[in-house]
Amino acid sequence: MTSTESPIQVVNHPFVFRLLRVKRATWLTPHMVRITLTGDSLPGFRSDAADDGIRLYFPPDPTDASWVPTAQDGKLVWPDEENKLPSREYSGRRYDAEANELDIDFVVHGEGPASTWAANAKPGHYLGASGPRRSRVMAGNVDWYLLIGDEAGIPAISRRIESLPAGTPVIAVLEVPTASEEQPVETEADLQVTWIHRDEGDPNDEGRLADVVSGLEFPEGDVFAWAAGEAGEMRAVRRHLVNERGIPQDRMRVTGYWKRAISNWDHHTPLDD
Ligand SMILES: Cc1cc2nc3c(=O)[nH]c(=O)nc-3n(C[C@H](O)[C@H](O)[C@H](O)COP(=O)(O)OP(=O)(O)OC[C@H]3O[C@@H](n4cnc5c(N)ncnc54)[C@H](O)[C@@H]3O)c2cc1C
Repeated sequence: MTSTESPIQVVNHPFVFRLLRVKRATWLTPHMVRITLTGDSLPGFRSDAADDGIRLYFPPDPTDASWVPTAQDGKLVWPDEENKLPSREYSGRRYDAEANELDIDFVVHGEGPASTWAANAKPGHYLGASGPRRSRVMAGNVDWYLLIGDEAGIPAISRRIESLPAGTPVIAVLEVPTASEEQPVETEADLQVTWIHRDEGDPNDEGRLADVVSGLEFPEGDVFAWAAGEAGEMRAVRRHLVNERGIPQDRMRVTGYWKRAISNWDHHTPLDD
């Protein structure tokens, strides 16, 4: 029986807006590009937890910076309130204060302000960023980690795995569209990873990740389970973890990062039914 006590402590950060520029774009796989950002307003950036959300703002003309808002009382005030930029949440993959660089890994999936901006990003292009507003840091006891996600969740999952102490038991179940989208994960943790390739089954199967997780033997001890990816799949994962594995709410975090056929999905939408 795992502890019901939450191992998470929430740390709030001041609300800051940053105008950033692309330093370089590095393709990690055919559909995942790492954008390295920099800028005079990047120093002081803080992201204490692997799953911190950073809100990014995408200018339709990436060479134009006339739209820059100011942060006031926890909100953004735009030069033209009728023409705010589209924004989406992303994970900070790596921040290097000395080099003044922030890496963000983008899934290039097709149409969408974020995907389109990232696919075409060139050195010097502009991007807005606010947050993270808060970090959920690991403060309590965790004997082992269960990490589940698709390609949108992989940046946060990889960052977490890389940061874990040597020997920490981690079971990861990662779904990507094809085998060519797999990425190596560098870690001294005791990692057992299962890759799922979407093209090897029904592409609309929302139970794919949950089915693989249901076949796993879980270690003893206090787990922290974290999952992020397509909302339908995350609903099935959450249902399995709650109903069949009995993992207490406080020891898991399952989030729909995007939803099939929906633009600008609200990841705060509850997944429990
Ligand atoms: C806290 C948080 C952290 C996130 N971190 C990352 C991250 O580090 N890297 C990352 O790539 N994504 C990440 N995401 C997911 C990302 O915000 C969404 O995928 C977002 O919808 C992409 O915006 P868009 O403008 O490209 O597409 P949208 O305009 O939102 O959607 C357009 C169309 O594309 C589809 N679509 C959206 N995302 C995907 C996808 N990943 N795969 C296939 N189809 C998709 C939609 O269903 C819709 O049909 C994160 C989400 C959250 C909430």
